[in-house]
Amino acid sequence: MISWKDKRDFWIMGAKIADPAGGKIKTGSVLVQKGMICEVAPQKTPETDLPVLDAGGLVLAPGFVDIHTHLREPGFEDKETIETGTAAAASGGYTSIMCMANTQPVVDDPSVVEYIRRRAEMSGRCRVYVAGAVTRGLAGEEITEFHHLKKAGAVALSDDGRFIVNSKVMRLALEYAKMIGLPVISHCEDPYLADDAQMNESYVSTRLGLRGAPAASEEIAIARDIRLAALTGGRLHIAHVSTAGGVDLVRKAKKTGIAVTAEASPHHLTLDETMLENYDRNFKVNPPLRGARDIAALRAGLKDGTIDCIATDHAPHTEIDKQVEFNYAPSGMTGLQTAFAQLNTELVEKGEMELVELLRLLSTAPASVIGIPGGRLEPGLPADLVLLDPKEEWVFERSMVRSRSYNTPLIGKKFTGRVHGVFLEGKWYSDVS
Ligand SMILES: [Zn+2]
Repeated sequence: MISWKDKRDFWIMGAKIADPAGGKIKTGSVLVQKGMICEVAPQKTPETDLPVLDAGGLVLAPGFVDIHTHLREPGFEDKETIETGTAAAASGGYTSIMCMANTQPVVDDPSVVEYIRRRAEMSGRCRVYVAGAVTRGLAGEEITEFHHLKKAGAVALSDDGRFIVNSKVMRLALEYAKMIGLPVISHCEDPYLADDAQMNESYVSTRLGLRGAPAASEEIAIARDIRLAALTGGRLHIAHVSTAGGVDLVRKAKKTGIAVTAEASPHHLTLDETMLENYDRNFKVNPPLRGARDIAALRAGLKDGTIDCIATDHAPHTEIDKQVEFNYAPSGMTGLQTAFAQLNTELVEKGEMELVELLRLLSTAPASVIGIPGGRLEPGLPADLVLLDPKEEWVFERSMVRSRSYNTPLIGKKFTGRVHGVFLEGKWYSDVS
């Protein structure tokens, strides 16, 4: 384990340096000065008077970037705050996150964007980017003032949590967003087909006696939004794709040159609907966990580039929120602290993916999807880095939870691959001691 005090200028020595943009991992050293990456040197032990951090055996990579976090502040501080959410993010290896607009008040006004950014500067453990709402109050009717939201700092637009049912409103949103150069992120779910759904609609839902949402509820919504992206030329990003049919629609749209990108969540890539058999509310998410065929399709989508990146959909809820009858429990699980470990365990360790590719999908790729900095390890850039051991085995204990909420089914799970800490502008944060 590494102990490290806050030092402004130092060498990180002997690490395996991962450059996901270049697709390589090679041993070397990195010089950090005034919070910036100054030099990436091939030699293991540079001659220097500066303090040296021996990171031998560890992997040094660009800090992770999450483009789908629910920070819950303002309005739901009992579930999460900017301080606790960003602490969970840093603990999971993230140096930048983007938070969604379904707070109270909704992020439909520049003042709320400014509020979140100010709070993040005061108490944030990582960089916080803000998604503005597409419609006032997320009501799906009246478009917000995109230009003002952007001026206040919003980097994308989304009514996440809700699908914009009115096609004319979504068309306008894509047109206006295009004019100011922001992507529209869509939560693709036909609310009528998914009405009161508790899980995926399948043989399993019938057996469990729970109402299901058919894959078609997602596919119909994705298909419509792709048509609207084609019509408007606007930039569409599909949040948390969960179905094989959804992957297929995105793949075909990309082949015809439509400007669409897509993300998948760690839970949809690794957990399936049968996990709901003991009615554990922590497996209740939206979109729901699907079947084995869908998981295989999502993984194939990652492999061929149909799915551009991985995003957590970190969705904290209090234990009181979740400890109600299954039907009344809110959807969502936290994910920032476990995303890397879970995916490294299930995909990299099982030979389905190279480590450097996973690192790319968690950093370089999401940053480029919404056009924010991050995901690169080069001289001249801020030293936003993650230090991890891809082979370390550990158990995610309840006492390690940094989020204000505990709604993850992964507490007690043994993982291979552990984040040791992050450098945020050269400043070291670590949970591992
Ligand atoms: Zn969503």
